[in-house]
Amino acid sequence: MRQRFLLPLSNRKGHYGRGLTEHMYDLAIKNGLCFIDREFVECNIGINGNKIAYVGKSDIRGEIEINAANMFVLPGLFNAHTHAAMTLFRGYAEGLPLRQWLEKVWEVEAKLNEDAVYWGSMLACLEMLKSGVTAFADMYIHMDGVAEAVGETGIRAIIGYGMADRGNVERAEKELEIALEVISKWNGSFGGRLRCMLTPHAPYTCSPEFLRRIAEIGREKNLVKHIHLSETLWEVREIKKQFGVRPAELLDSLGFLDDKTVVAHAVWLSDEEISVLAKKGVSVAHCPTSNLKLSSGVARVTEMIESGINLSIGTDGAASNNMLCVMSEVRTAALLQSLRRKVVRTSDWLRAATENGYRAYGFKGGRISTGMLADVTIFQKNFRHYPLHDPASLIFVENCEAYHVIVNGELIVEEGIVLPLDEEKVLKKVENVKERLFGHG
Ligand SMILES: [Zn+2]
Repeated sequence: MRQRFLLPLSNRKGHYGRGLTEHMYDLAIKNGLCFIDREFVECNIGINGNKIAYVGKSDIRGEIEINAANMFVLPGLFNAHTHAAMTLFRGYAEGLPLRQWLEKVWEVEAKLNEDAVYWGSMLACLEMLKSGVTAFADMYIHMDGVAEAVGETGIRAIIGYGMADRGNVERAEKELEIALEVISKWNGSFGGRLRCMLTPHAPYTCSPEFLRRIAEIGREKNLVKHIHLSETLWEVREIKKQFGVRPAELLDSLGFLDDKTVVAHAVWLSDEEISVLAKKGVSVAHCPTSNLKLSSGVARVTEMIESGINLSIGTDGAASNNMLCVMSEVRTAALLQSLRRKVVRTSDWLRAATENGYRAYGFKGGRISTGMLADVTIFQKNFRHYPLHDPASLIFVENCEAYHVIVNGELIVEEGIVLPLDEEKVLKKVENVKERLFGHG
């Protein structure tokens, strides 16, 4: 299992002096500029176990101490929609719109096995942790490989087997069986750091009967449901042609939409569909770079936020991005809404990148507040942040290099190094998998 991390002596102050025990925490983050609610305030954070136990101005001590002076301390970033192992296809099938891109990707995905997915996910976890992502939502295949990578790297995740019945009853049974097996095997693993969900691929790859059944199982077992929705205009037209209604309306008619549903993309929504999602408490995972890269469109984010929808941020897979960096994603998201002359406050974007993802998937985290899960991301302040008018405008200073990252109360990234991982080895293994899948050159 994971090794105990050894910090340089300068960072480690193990004083358990008499009379100090009330101020002693497992981990203390001191003097940082912390994002709390909508504001940045200088404060200290004490962590015990996997929870934030103290936030305030008092001097505190920790078994491990982090001096965060001159640093931004954010709640952990949540990547609300990805397919982690698609790092294996980064740079493959470039320049294609979604339909053609999918066909090319599906072809090579058929060659994947658990080992390939494991190494692709290891690379994804490495990249996400290095860029300050503390948790992610994953929909893919060969999920044992994803789960093992989550276990080893120390990141938090909610995962599901991507189901597609394509209107075939036998296939529906088989898909559901695999999905439920993943759930019973992994849900709640690694001290609750890994959770599972139901993830049918999309309304155009899953039949209405299948989606209705998944919704029922979700209610029975109290599971989150995650699905791609209204990613392209093609999808909207196709669903309308087949069923006479738009995609969100179809899902609503199947009982699929509720406060345990997270839809990815939601690019082509009508006003009525936005109201339905808001009324049903559905969360949206907005993936602007993927929507740009695959020529899908620009989501009506401002209207969604104004209607009360919980909007989170996702990178989608590395094959359509090509990064898994939530800070970069939120910059793109903000710029796109500015282009539409629909401006969202910088602090609201930061909440979308942190708190809203945790809320969407039912994790009690994403906020620097006592009792919350101790997932914290620390960025160093640099010359691009001076002078500091609005600290939240750091969303526009693209930064995919976190300095320290804490997940579940553990220091996982220290000074940019992912402690539980051998980075060189991961890169080498991924190259090997690539050769196996695609051949040389
Ligand atoms: Zn996706």
